[in-house]
Amino acid sequence: MKLNSGCNKDLMVLTTAHEFGHVVGLGHENNRCARMNPTLEPDGTPNHCTQHTLRYWLSHVLQKDDLQGARAIYQR
Ligand SMILES: [Zn+2]
Repeated sequence: MKLNSGCNKDLMVLTTAHEFGHVVGLGHENNRCARMNPTLEPDGTPNHCTQHTLRYWLSHVLQKDDLQGARAIYQR
């Protein structure tokens, strides 16, 4: 994983969470709101989520779909 320097550090936090999602085996979520949506808006809103502030997303990094995906992979 490589993050470009010069990016807003708060957006890097959200991007890193997304990229670690891939590391643990999650793919992109293209229908429901999730940190694993393929793109995010400049305020950190994943592209299938309701718009919120960057401050909101920093305290709500993972969405229900992200957690369900991880549980589906690792919970036995
Ligand atoms: Zn991705």
